[in-house]
Amino acid sequence: MTRAQIADPDLVRKAEAGEEAEIRECVGLNLCVARRLRKFPIACVQNPDAGFELRAVPRAATARHVVVVGGGIAGLEAARVAAEAGHRVTLLERAPSLGGQVALTAGLPRQGAHRYLIDWRARRLERLGVHVELGVDADADAVLRLEPDFVVVATGSEPGQRYPGAISAVDVLRGAEASGPVVVLDEEGHRKGAGVAETLANAGREVTLVGDGVAPAGSLVHTLADAPTRRRLQAAGVRLVRGVRVVSVESDRVVVEREGTHEAIRAASVVHAGRHRPADSLLTVLRDRGLAATTAGDARAPGLVEDAIRSGHDVAAAL
Ligand code: SF4
Repeated sequence: MTRAQIADPDLVRKAEAGEEAEIRECVGLNLCVARRLRKFPIACVQNPDAGFELRAVPRAATARHVVVVGGGIAGLEAARVAAEAGHRVTLLERAPSLGGQVALTAGLPRQGAHRYLIDWRARRLERLGVHVELGVDADADAVLRLEPDFVVVATGSEPGQRYPGAISAVDVLRGAEASGPVVVLDEEGHRKGAGVAETLANAGREVTLVGDGVAPAGSLVHTLADAPTRRRLQAAGVRLVRGVRVVSVESDRVVVEREGTHEAIRAASVVHAGRHRPADSLLTVLRDRGLAATTAGDARAPGLVEDAIRSGHDVAAAL
């Protein structure tokens, strides 16, 4: 129960009061463990106040109308924190459901707990009376019509196009077809590359996971997720090619190099789990039209889920 009470220090009180739906569930991503192992101060993916208990968000002196554009995890957190502080909040999301990239990640093998990040915030917004509109492509005119005092642009990010012809891991998660044999180029070394490789292998594709680190999903080593990830990849039949440099991506192969030795890996499809760039064009338009606005989450700086939640939290806390 230690991690459960890091994620929600009020867990026992809520359980005693019969408020189970209010409990902010631990998602088991082990940021807390990773930071402990490296002797960093504690932090929690679900609970951005962990480690910052003396910096509680104050009640707003003046309630303002805050419009949050984007219902991914950063937008959800920004809307929640703004509403908890007493602001009137409207959240606009283009998709028919909330969650953005975190919802896609939740569809990967053994990543279903990512849903807790979305669902707890969605429940909280409902309790706080936040007005949520789904299926709204919020351009500047749509935002201006709402007469906001402040706008948080949490419109996420788009995959970079480092390798022409490659399919982004996010697009595979959105349903893009990747015929085999598939080479997954894992530039992030995180959950997405390994998860997409496992998913495609489980669907019957011949898959090679290529990365420049020594472990699949190398950034997960300190979260204790590395070994189980490796076991699942092996069980799914994914070939791991690590510690290499990508030399070229061609129409039917990927050429890699390690210590002067080259290898050509057959590929009908190349999937790239790489860096993203902010989708922040709305910010400039809104500011040009006189609105006070800022970005949050990937729209500010693409990163991991904990970065997005922290960003959404801090932007709203500063209102
Ligand atoms: S960082 Fe993750 S595993 Fe640790 S307490 Fe928070 S939600 Fe749970």
